[in-house]
Amino acid sequence: MFIRLSSGLVLRTHMKMTGAWHVYPAGGRWRKPEFQARLVLEAGDRVAVAFNVPVIELIHQRDEDVHPAIRNLGPDVLVQPVDLDEVRRRAASRPPDLPVCELLLDQQVVCGIGNIWRAESMFACSVDPMTPQAEAPLDDLINAATRLMSASVAARAAPAPMNVYGRTGKPCKRCRTPIKSLVTGDNARRLYWCPTCQSRDSATS
Ligand SMILES: [Zn+2]
Repeated sequence: MFIRLSSGLVLRTHMKMTGAWHVYPAGGRWRKPEFQARLVLEAGDRVAVAFNVPVIELIHQRDEDVHPAIRNLGPDVLVQPVDLDEVRRRAASRPPDLPVCELLLDQQVVCGIGNIWRAESMFACSVDPMTPQAEAPLDDLINAATRLMSASVAARAAPAPMNVYGRTGKPCKRCRTPIKSLVTGDNARRLYWCPTCQSRDSATS
């Protein structure tokens, strides 16, 4: 996450597996203990607290484009309309047999889809996570991610209930099959899917 400060500096934080930003009214109660706060930003009637964030750095705005963490990022899934041609062009530079579940987390192909929304997008499109990326309906998946994530941002006070994310062993809301999960990929993120709704056989039939 990049926060542009009026001084011309940019605050870069990376949550990895542990970190989270919370925003509170000034003087409001924090939902995590103070000793876990790595950084506190006060702005008017709001306070933003970075809890357990492992990567925090200040960079100059002029250096932002050449920073290794953001150089060459793919189109942002939350900036509409998403440049799907560019996403496809970038996906074509990856191995065609790479599972689509891995491609969706590749920030240099498409930027901003985290672990929750890759799972929910693949469920929304009935896509088997292990589908080779070259055979997957990439446009549909990106559009689903944009739709679901935008709705989630708009409704942050009342988050949408998840269909598969975090529901290991619970019945699928469509077909009652128990949701599966598995830790996969270089980032060792846990993947969630319905083996019935998201089987490649059902997608092609
Ligand atoms: Zn299902």
